[in-house]
Amino acid sequence: MTIEQTLKDKNIEFLHFTWVGLDGYIRSKSAYVDNVDEMIKSGIGLTKAMMSFTPMDTISPYGSFGPQDEDVFLIPDISSLTIIPPSALVLSYLYEKSKPWIYDPKSLLKKVLDKLDDENKFRVLSSFEIEFYLTKDKKPYDDARCFDPVAFYNNSIISDITKNLNLNGIDILRVIKEYGPGQYEFDILHKDAMRSADEVIIFKQIAKYVASKYGVEANFMPKPFNNIAGSGLHLNLSLWKDDKNLFYDPNDSLGLSELAYNFIGGILEHAKALTAISAPTVNSYRRLVPGSWAPTKITYGDNNKSAMLRIPTSYSGTYGKDKRIEYRVPDPTVNPYLLLASVIQAGLDGIERGLRPGNPVNENAYFRKDIDDLPRNLRESINELKRDTKLVERIGKEIIDEFIKVKLAEVEMFESYVTDLEYDIYKKM
Ligand code: GLU
Ligand code: MG
Ligand code: MG
Repeated sequence: MTIEQTLKDKNIEFLHFTWVGLDGYIRSKSAYVDNVDEMIKSGIGLTKAMMSFTPMDTISPYGSFGPQDEDVFLIPDISSLTIIPPSALVLSYLYEKSKPWIYDPKSLLKKVLDKLDDENKFRVLSSFEIEFYLTKDKKPYDDARCFDPVAFYNNSIISDITKNLNLNGIDILRVIKEYGPGQYEFDILHKDAMRSADEVIIFKQIAKYVASKYGVEANFMPKPFNNIAGSGLHLNLSLWKDDKNLFYDPNDSLGLSELAYNFIGGILEHAKALTAISAPTVNSYRRLVPGSWAPTKITYGDNNKSAMLRIPTSYSGTYGKDKRIEYRVPDPTVNPYLLLASVIQAGLDGIERGLRPGNPVNENAYFRKDIDDLPRNLRESINELKRDTKLVERIGKEIIDEFIKVKLAEVEMFESYVTDLEYDIYKKM
């Protein structure tokens, strides 16, 4: 059966060809159901300027592209077809002429994964823990406490999100009433890296769709409220060959293989530069503060939730199948394709150079003055990314230069904007 027929049988009106810009925004161009099969074949033309945010006017976009530039084409990845009635969406690659466009993050990740596959090296499995708030009128939607089961009784919003995730092939491991009022977390089963990146986008769309049905918002800001917990997007990752987890070694005290230590060494080596990609908004840095359970120090530790890289302990007796690293810097404003491509490149650099991470830190890392800090704001982390030419070359100079350009424009907008707090503090000086 054709996609068109499948969608018609479900009374779907539009198929949204969806992509994620270098600014992290999710956008789409949509085919009416009668034209779906045709457009899946031909792609939908798209102006290049739509890879970035244009907050004040649409004439001069933040990135390098303008109205004079030729179109690229949205070519759908049919495996990501998602039903959000009466719509459907499909995550799409961006093609220029008949080749993947050099600025497309999803094509970038595909290239990285295909190369590992061609060289028969390993398969990357990953999974995300997605934290977010349900909000209404810019306030948390409920006052439920952390881990309170009552939060889930008669919670039609969470049940409805769950139902829609299930219908779309997203496997939920756990759902958590998180620390903040109105804050929830869904932990998603590990899958191959491309699918797990797709699932972050699908999750956000489903959560927004369901929330809007109930007159609330699903808010994915890293730090929506002062003095209340932020929302992270912890990335769990392991490397596999066939059905063997290459990160696992039963003889090691942390259960990690030499390959895993080298991968960790690479992430620590490039930690500052990676922060620009993992915490890519001005708001991200309000979350990365001491005591928040979000990281501030460049370190790793055995089941240590104050470390930037945590090695979760397993109690499942699955013979190391679930041995993995948990990278805690990312938040839900990331572009998950760019994030995975970059983390993998940092780790591979560690493997190629045989980098070792030193000893794990097993006490509260926030108190360790001798450990280097993560960058404190977006401008600082962008400068670190610029400086890390080795990582930039590995990821792709064109796409990272464009990312930096888009993000610097965002930084500059905030740097020249006077906030209420500033006014209050300085008005009587
Ligand atoms: N909300 C914290 C963060 O922003 C994480 C809390 C947890 O360990 O789950 O990363
Ligand atoms: Mg959590
Ligand atoms: Mg976690």
